[in-house]
Amino acid sequence: MIAALALSLLAILGLEFMPDRQLDLLAPGAVHNLFLASPAPAGAGSPVQWVDARRRHWRCHYTAPAPYEPCGITLMLSGKDPARGVDLTRLRTLELDLAYRGSSPHVRVAIRNFDTRFSRAEDANSPRIHTIHLRSRDVQQPVVLDLAELTVPEWWIAQYNLPREFNRARLDNATSITIDLPSELAGHEQDLELRRLVLRGDWFNRDVAYLAVVCAWMLGAAAIAVHRGTALRRRYRSQQREIDALTARTSALREEQDRLRRLATIDELTGVLNRRGLEAALEDLESQPQGVALVLLDIDHFKRINDRWGHTAGDEVLRRVAAIVAANLRARDVIGRWGGEEFLIACQGQHVEDAAHLAEKLRESIESSCIDAKGRFGITASFGVALAPPGTSAQRAFKRADAALYRAKSAGRNRVEVDTAHDAATTL
Ligand code: GH3
Ligand code: MG
Ligand code: MG
Repeated sequence: MIAALALSLLAILGLEFMPDRQLDLLAPGAVHNLFLASPAPAGAGSPVQWVDARRRHWRCHYTAPAPYEPCGITLMLSGKDPARGVDLTRLRTLELDLAYRGSSPHVRVAIRNFDTRFSRAEDANSPRIHTIHLRSRDVQQPVVLDLAELTVPEWWIAQYNLPREFNRARLDNATSITIDLPSELAGHEQDLELRRLVLRGDWFNRDVAYLAVVCAWMLGAAAIAVHRGTALRRRYRSQQREIDALTARTSALREEQDRLRRLATIDELTGVLNRRGLEAALEDLESQPQGVALVLLDIDHFKRINDRWGHTAGDEVLRRVAAIVAANLRARDVIGRWGGEEFLIACQGQHVEDAAHLAEKLRESIESSCIDAKGRFGITASFGVALAPPGTSAQRAFKRADAALYRAKSAGRNRVEVDTAHDAATTL
């Protein structure tokens, strides 16, 4: 940025202080030809004579009046091709140093510009002429003219009668510069020496150069904006990708966490709650106002099945019993494997009879089910039922259910024993 500023400043300073373009028309080889205007061929009798051609010093002496008495010097800017001149549009000033002694009140500077739209090579007057008349006394010292001061004279406009736009001053193809005297000269000697004729101007169009600096800035700003925009877009996209990846990872982790949580509370073998899950469910039920009824289920002589038919058959029995129980429960009831071949069913409710009824229903379902499809063994289970009225401990009720279960076992198995001496509410 600082470098660009410095560069622009340098460019502007350069434009301001750059040395002018200088065209010294009197330097050797600067013009193609230089000659004196003369009505007759130059010679001893001519009214126009060089005093010193090398120093461009000449004299004119017309003894009698004549309609046109030329006494000037012409510098040809065009070469062999009279239609090809020099582009002076970027030149601004003309420095003239002319030593003149004579009778003319004015000195004229004229520049011809060949315009292919109407100028003809065979008509020397057809290149548009631009003139300025300077007072002779003003020419005593060197003068600096602005080229814009030169105008197209009325006589030329009248003579060619061209469309208006062709009469406008324009020096893009200047073919000659003439210094002469636009007055009647008869009877007086005119002595002229052209000492200096220099055109000055810019090397190039300043407006275009300033515009180029401005354009360069605009282009630079646009390039920076585009670059920043692209970088921002790229960064945004990569951040978006990172966010997407993080989101995907988070949801994968959450799923994994859910799976592990489920696993932590579910018995892998039977798919019902495990002991941990049961304890959490009991805690939840305990906090409800309705009270909890517990049914403890223990498969009868399970060890025998294992011993006789193998552990895999035992596992299958556990799965089937769990499925039978689950199929007989209401949505709100909870079943879990307390351990080994023991299941605990917990229901909301205040009546131990309802729970006993449920236990009886389960007992019948297990007994009547063909757990072993091959008919090798029948399955029965014993049940202990107890109630934890609202506000009482489910843990204590569990113990009583366990005791009831023990009684069921002792009484011959395949039966339901109900605890009747349940706790009174302690927290009500
Ligand atoms: P009872 O009628 O008195 O309850 O007798 P039982 O044989 O059912 O009870 P016991 O406590 O003597 O035996 C329980 C057996 O359950 C012992 C154990 O090997 C088996 N067992 C515990 N968990 C599993 C299991 O996950 N799979 C299998 N196949 N057997 C299990
Ligand atoms: Mg047991
Ligand atoms: Mg058992």
